[in-house]
Amino acid sequence: MIKFWKRRVKLGKLTENLELEDEIKSIEKEIKEQVNKKFAGSLAIRMLDSGSCNACEAECNALSNPYYNLERLGIYFVASPRHADVMLLSGVMTFNMNPHVLETYEQIPSPKWVISLGDCPVMKAPFEKTFAITAPVEQHLPIAYHIAGCPPTPLDIMQGFLGFLRGI
Ligand code: SF4
Repeated sequence: MIKFWKRRVKLGKLTENLELEDEIKSIEKEIKEQVNKKFAGSLAIRMLDSGSCNACEAECNALSNPYYNLERLGIYFVASPRHADVMLLSGVMTFNMNPHVLETYEQIPSPKWVISLGDCPVMKAPFEKTFAITAPVEQHLPIAYHIAGCPPTPLDIMQGFLGFLRGI
């Protein structure tokens, strides 16, 4: 036990990264300003999986934890496309999901945008084109912004949201 505590004191806190926290704080500040300016303080996102391995969704889930806590910046994940401004689309475009993705897009009120998440929608992920997969997502929907990565980290996703907000 003494050995453990000696080591613990010597190593210090390994879970804190002050540089990363500074970067996150500056991204958060700008996201909040952009959401206030362009979406009256509230940006609603409908996330949809058109054929993913679920790792992209797991990274997105982290955005709602107390560390990233995107809701305090005015970004909300909503259940209904009718309440959404943006569709966040992950996964390869499978034939089975294709009609549902298009229907969901139709139900989002205009103006609306699509952000593709991860390497799958642009067909760069581990999944090859097969009998189950139809063309890259951009051939089905207008993509306003792409967030790369397999999977992208929560920080990548936040930077992606900021890139999207800056560009509209
Ligand atoms: S981009 Fe990678 S992590 Fe995301 S759904 Fe595709 S395979 Fe999974």
